Order: sequence, then C-alpha cells, then structure tokens
Amino acid sequence: MGAYAIDLDEGTFAQDRDTYKNRLKDPRWKVRREEILMRDGYRCVVCGSAEDPEVHHRQYHYIVGASRYRDPWDYADELLITLCRKCHTNGHEHYKVPVVFLDSNNKIL
Ligand SMILES: [Zn+2]
Ligand SMILES: [Zn+2]
Repeated sequence: MGAYAIDLDEGTFAQDRDTYKNRLKDPRWKVRREEILMRDGYRCVVCGSAEDPEVHHRQYHYIVGASRYRDPWDYADELLITLCRKCHTNGHEHYKVPVVFLDSNNKIL
C-alpha cells in the first residue's frame, strides 16, 4: 500500500477514491514527488531518517465545481513534505489532513 494509500485514507471522499488513486500512479506525480524528496534531501523533515521516505500532503484541496480533488502534483511546495514511513503513518494516526475547498479558479472558498 505505502504512502499513497496512507494519504488516500485521509480526507478523501469514498466516491473519489479510485480516481485519486489512479492519479497517484501518474508520471506527473512521480516527477513532483521526486522534486520534493530531492528538496528535503530524501530525509524525513520530522526525525531526519532516510528510511522509506514518502511525500505527504499537508492539505487536500477539493475543487467544488469540478467535484474532485486537485491533482496530487498540483500543490505548492510548502504543502508537500518528506516524511519517513514511520512518522508518516504515525502522523496520519494522530492528525486529520485538513481539506480546503476551492472554487473553479483554485481560490479558497
Ligand atoms: Zn521520520
Ligand atoms: Zn500523508
């Protein structure tokens, strides 16, 4: 399952889950993910571990008019962080990822 499934568990609406999951297989996500991992030196920003680095979304953006989540690669740098699998799993167990609702111009509602 890994990082994608963990991110998917939080904040996503059931009907959107399959689509979102497919978008995490998109090459654009692979590229974006790699950019973030590289920026963070492939180390967890919480504990510094280089073991199983994963990219975490600090918010999920739901585009209300389009009835879907923003593409996972289409988030600002500051909303994406590298976490090791342990901190990532732990974080999702303790905190809900906030969902921010956007209009069709990607403006916060
Ligand atoms: Zn960590
Ligand atoms: Zn996450």
